[in-house]
This record gives sequence, structure tokens and C-alpha cells, in this order.
Amino acid sequence: RYDRFGPEGVSGGGDPFAGGGLGDIFEAFFGGGGFGGGRSRGPAGPPRGPDLEATATLAFEDAVFGCEHEITVRTAVPCEECSGTGGADGSAPSTCPDCNGAGEVRTVRNSMLGQIMSTQPCRKCSGQGAVVLNPCLACQGDGRVVTDKAFTVDIPAGVDAGSTLRLSGRGAVGPRGGPSGDLYVKIRVRGSDRFERSGVDVLHRLPVTMTQAALGHHIKFETMDGVEDLVISKGTQSGTVQRLKGRGVPHLDGHRRGDLLVEIVVVTPTDLSSEEVAVMQQLAELRGEVVEIPDSGLLSRLRSAFK
Ligand SMILES: [Zn+2]
Ligand SMILES: [Zn+2]
Repeated sequence: RYDRFGPEGVSGGGDPFAGGGLGDIFEAFFGGGGFGGGRSRGPAGPPRGPDLEATATLAFEDAVFGCEHEITVRTAVPCEECSGTGGADGSAPSTCPDCNGAGEVRTVRNSMLGQIMSTQPCRKCSGQGAVVLNPCLACQGDGRVVTDKAFTVDIPAGVDAGSTLRLSGRGAVGPRGGPSGDLYVKIRVRGSDRFERSGVDVLHRLPVTMTQAALGHHIKFETMDGVEDLVISKGTQSGTVQRLKGRGVPHLDGHRRGDLLVEIVVVTPTDLSSEEVAVMQQLAELRGEVVEIPDSGLLSRLRSAFK
């Protein structure tokens, strides 16, 4: 459905409409025709409209599961006054009188070596073979007008930040009925306060208390798919990662999904009451653990020693 590009896929496109008023916009359109390269014989017809670029900023889970996202793009649409022909009252463009519709002009020059024939694109019609003799006032004969247009973009599940979707033929329309360019939609994804994405895997850091990690714990954990049972077995170390298979991001090219990685972070208490300190010291004694609690005097002596 879409062509996808990596972060470097579409470069240098830029926004042809950035800054400037209507005049600049029309210049951008006229400039977008592109008559630079060599052409085959015959009239070129109306040129293709320029490609456009837009940005879709998605919520984290909308990028994971896909969504319909509305964007508004400044673009060119066919002029309603002339139905896109560029001629007053919708009259069709006339055959160019300079080239008789061929789109190119032949010149013959006599030289010492004989006749030299050369062919050049017709200047009057820019190689298109037709000219608007009585231009539509609403569009000055261009056959299109600039407007803001809303699109609903079908965001595929699993799309990642930095990728670009190409919507064929959804760019600006060409002058006087010329075909439309393409619309490139760059994807941005907002951060989540619960999840961090790494390709198709999703990471969550789960803080647990010292006692939960030591004794074991059972919680209802909220994944992106809903609440699931998560068991932290007794004696879990900080940094242990539990892998919830298939609870990550869908692969763009299939039905498989990445995993949800839950990293257990054991949080050391910092706000012990004197009663809790006594219990902890008792626990240390029971376990035969040596705990030399530094007094504040030792701390300041150590600090001055390191200066
Ligand atoms: Zn018009
Ligand atoms: Zn011509």
C-alpha cells in the first residue's frame, strides 16, 4: 500500500511552500514543472504537480497498533472556476500557434558545411503544445489554486519514528489538468512514560521494593494489550529482565510481534524510620552480615582526605 523509506529515504525535499505569500507559492509550482532535461519528440502535455511533504506526530501506542491519522497539507487543487483547464469559463487550452502543438520548434541554419537543423522546446508553451489564450481570472490560467487540504492517513501497525510513507498521487495537482505529485508523510512518535521502544521490542522498567524482590511478588501488570499476571520470583536481582513474548510491536511485514521486556529495578529504601533501622540491623545480625554504618564524622574526614 505504501512505499516506505528509512530516515535518509527522502532528503532534500524541503517544503516548497515554506515562507512567503501566494506569489512565492505560485512560483514554486511553476518552478516545479522541470523542463531541464532532454525530452522525446512530441508535446509534453501539462507537467506533473510537485511532491509534498508532511509530518504525522503519533502517540506511542498508535504507532505500535496503527491508526487513522488526520493531517492537513497546504497543496494545489484544480481551480473550480475553470475546472482545471486554466481557460476562462472552462475553455480548453488552444493549440500553440508557435509550434502547432508539437511542443518543440525546429530551426534550420545555413552554414559552410550545409544546413544545420536543431530542435528546441517551444518557448511559448514551454514544450506543452498548448497555451491558454484567455486565462481564467481565478487562477491566472494555471488551472489550480492553493488551499489547505485534510487527509486521513492510514498508519500501518509497527511504523517507527523516522520512517516516511509515500501516498502516490496525493501531492499537489499539476497545472491545467496535469497529474498529481506524491505526498510523503514523515512519521514522528511521541514518547511514552511507561514504555521505551527498541525496534520491535518494547522495554518497561518496573521498580520493586527490596522486600518484594527478596520474598517474591505477584502483580497485575498493565501491558499495551491489557492487564496480565506478572510473577517476580523470590530472590530476583535488580536488572533481571522478564520477556513477555509477542507483547511488543508488530513487524511491518507480517503478523509476528516483538516482545515486551520488563526490567526489574530493585529500589533501596532511603527513608527508614529508627524502628525500621533496628529491624534491618537485626536482620543483618541474623544473616551474619557485617554492617559498619559510617557516622557523619567519618564521612567528613574521608571527604577532606580526598581533597
Ligand atoms: Zn481557473
Ligand atoms: Zn508551442
